[in-house]
Amino acid sequence: MSATVYQMAYFLRDQYEAAWERGLLNATSYRDHGDYRRENEQTMRALAARSTTAIRVMRLNVTDLLAYAQREGKDPAGRQTRLDFAGWLHKAGHTGELWPPERNAACWCGSGGKYKKCCGNAGFLAVEPADPASLVLRIELDGITPRVWRRVAIPSNTPLDQVHLMFQEAMGWHDQHMYAFETHTHTIIDPRSDSGEATADGERLVSIATQPGATFTYVYDFGDHWTHTVTVEEIRPGGADNTFTILDGEGACPPEDTGGAARHQYLLDALADPSSPDHDEAVDQLGADFQPAKAR
Ligand SMILES: [Zn+2]
Repeated sequence: MSATVYQMAYFLRDQYEAAWERGLLNATSYRDHGDYRRENEQTMRALAARSTTAIRVMRLNVTDLLAYAQREGKDPAGRQTRLDFAGWLHKAGHTGELWPPERNAACWCGSGGKYKKCCGNAGFLAVEPADPASLVLRIELDGITPRVWRRVAIPSNTPLDQVHLMFQEAMGWHDQHMYAFETHTHTIIDPRSDSGEATADGERLVSIATQPGATFTYVYDFGDHWTHTVTVEEIRPGGADNTFTILDGEGACPPEDTGGAARHQYLLDALADPSSPDHDEAVDQLGADFQPAKAR
């Protein structure tokens, strides 16, 4: 049993509007306060499902946040600054609101309504947010020269099991093996796995791709263990054309089941060198017309 407490940094409606006006939020945040509350409720549910950590909602005040950021020399618009400020409030003696409230108790969000009729309501939780951001991601396969990479745009509210299928299509894999997303703090795994970790059908892309420059790892095939470094390059406001798009890329995806990055690199080198003792095997495995630098 962990004694740690997770502080959910939260803006009441008027403070949320003030935070937008001060430029403290970016396109990964929903513009609508209802969508923002829904996302927070879903995040806390996902967190509760994968750990025994106590969850408290810490209400942030824009004026105090700005003062804290200035005092600590932190970026006032940074997500981590909000989390750090929530942690600081807790250490300073603010207890916040314990989550989840009783069904008939006042909702954690400060609306004044009962939890069961507000953020705990199944109908409220089922609504799809209207205007998610478009996240531009660079996916690069680790350990291969010439580089194998793709640039894609994906709506921020896409569940990670769908993101997996998009990555498969973009890279050129054939979805024949299990996968995992790994962040600096946790692993989110293929729902077909029985590992007991958080599963990808319960989490959305925005939960691991939170700001430009953020990185995470996508692992495909726990045998060959192909690892891809994914970088959030840009966050664009959503809109009518906010759908999954492959924007750019270079390098040919390895065939399935060839043994992983080191083995694939060896085969690439043997393919390029007709005098190599393994040239014939490389032709056999990769195909005589395999073009390593071409995306398709
Ligand atoms: Zn509520």
